[in-house]
Amino acid sequence: MSKNSKLHFDSKCVHSGIEEYEYGPVVPPIYQTSTFKFENAKHGADLFKGEREGYIYSRMGNPTVEAMENAVADLEGGYKALGCASGMAAISTTFFSLLKSGDHVVCSKAVYGPTNTLLNNIFTQLGVEVSFVETSSTEEVESSVRSNTKVIYVETPGNPTLSVADLKSICALAKKVNAKVVVDNTFMSPALQQPIKFGVDVVVHSMTKFLNGHADVVAGVIVVNDETTYKHFRKTLNQLGGVIDPFNAFLVHRGLKTLSIRMQRHCENAQIIAEWLKAHPAIEWVKYPGLKDDPGYEIGKVQHSGSGGMITFEVKGGFSAGETVMNSVKFCQLAVSLGGVETLIQHPASMTHLTMGEKARAVAGISEGLVRLSVGIENVNDIINDLEQAFKNASQKIKEEAKV
Ligand SMILES: *Cc1c(COP(=O)(O)O)cnc(C)c1O
Repeated sequence: MSKNSKLHFDSKCVHSGIEEYEYGPVVPPIYQTSTFKFENAKHGADLFKGEREGYIYSRMGNPTVEAMENAVADLEGGYKALGCASGMAAISTTFFSLLKSGDHVVCSKAVYGPTNTLLNNIFTQLGVEVSFVETSSTEEVESSVRSNTKVIYVETPGNPTLSVADLKSICALAKKVNAKVVVDNTFMSPALQQPIKFGVDVVVHSMTKFLNGHADVVAGVIVVNDETTYKHFRKTLNQLGGVIDPFNAFLVHRGLKTLSIRMQRHCENAQIIAEWLKAHPAIEWVKYPGLKDDPGYEIGKVQHSGSGGMITFEVKGGFSAGETVMNSVKFCQLAVSLGGVETLIQHPASMTHLTMGEKARAVAGISEGLVRLSVGIENVNDIINDLEQAFKNASQKIKEEAKV
C-alpha cells in the first residue's frame, strides 16, 4: 500500500512515486549514474543477498527509475512496476517470463504489429504455440484454449480495429484453465481503464504513447500484481537487459502528472470528432468505442471511464482517397505512433501496411481507405477544419478520376 493509495486518481498522477530526497526537491532528481558505491564489503554482500535495501547497478535498479515505476504501479493499482526501454521490451520480457517451449498462447487478432511478429517468429521458433483469435468474443477465446495454454494476451481496444474485449469474463475463463491474462493497456492508460481491477495478472504499456504523452520518449512498463511474480519478472528483465534509463524515466514521470487532464481532453475531442465523422458524407464508416452503436460500447461502459483518443475511419474512394487525405492535412501531422498531445494521422494501406499488399491487408481487416487518427489535445475545431478541407480534396479527386 503506497502512502497515496487513498488519493483520487488525478491527485495520484501528480503525487505518486515521489519520496523525500536530499535537499528537499519536489520532484525526483535524475540519478544519472551506472553504479552505486558500497560502504564496505559486507554492505555489498548484503545488497547482493537481498538482506539490505539499496542500489547496486542501474540495470538492477535506480532511484529515478524506481520513482516512476512506483507511480505507474500506483496508477494501475498493481503491486509493483518494471520500467523498460520500450513497449516491445516490456512485451518481450513478459513473454520470456511466462513462457517456455511446449506452452501455448492465445493472442488478440487485432494486436500491435511487432507483438504479432514476436510471437509468430521468435516464440514459434522457440517451440511456443500461438493462436490469434478475436478476443472481443470470449466464446472464441474459450474454444481456442488448450491444456497447455499459459497466457491469454489481450489488447483492448485492439489496434487498428478498436474492438473491445470483455476482461472480466476472459479472466474468469483464465482462472478455470490456470492461464495468466496479460493486457496491453497502451490505448487506454490507467486514467481510463485499470485491467487489474477485473482480475488481469499483468499489464503492459508502451509508455511512448499516452503515459509519457509528449512524443519525446520511447519507453515501456510492466505492472504486476504480487511479490512472487515481481521477483521473477525482475530477474528476467535483469537478464534480458531491456531497462529504461534514468533520464527517460524522469521524462515519463513528468508526463504522468498531466495524464488525467490530458486523457480527459483526448476523450472529449475524440467523441466530438467521431460523431462528426459519422455524419460526414465523405466517410464510409467510423470505429470509436464511444459511439452508441459501436459493438464495444456496452462493455466499455463497465470497463472504461472514457473511450480514449484513437479513432479509425474509412474515407469513401478507397486507397486514392486515403492517400489524398494524407497529402492534404496541414494541422494534423502525418506520422505513425500515437498518444501525444499533438494530433497524428496515418494511412496504413500506403504506410505501415503498404508492403503487405492489398490481399493480405484485406485478411487483416485493413481496408484501402482506412485512416487511423490519434486525436490530440488541441482545440477540436482546428482538427475538424483541417480534416474538412482534406476530405474536400479527396472528393474532388474522386470526381476528377470519374471524368477520365
Ligand atoms: C507502440 C505500441 C507498442 C510498442 O511500443 P514501443 O514503445 O514502440 O516499443 C505496443 N503496443 C501498442 C498497443 C502500441 O501502440
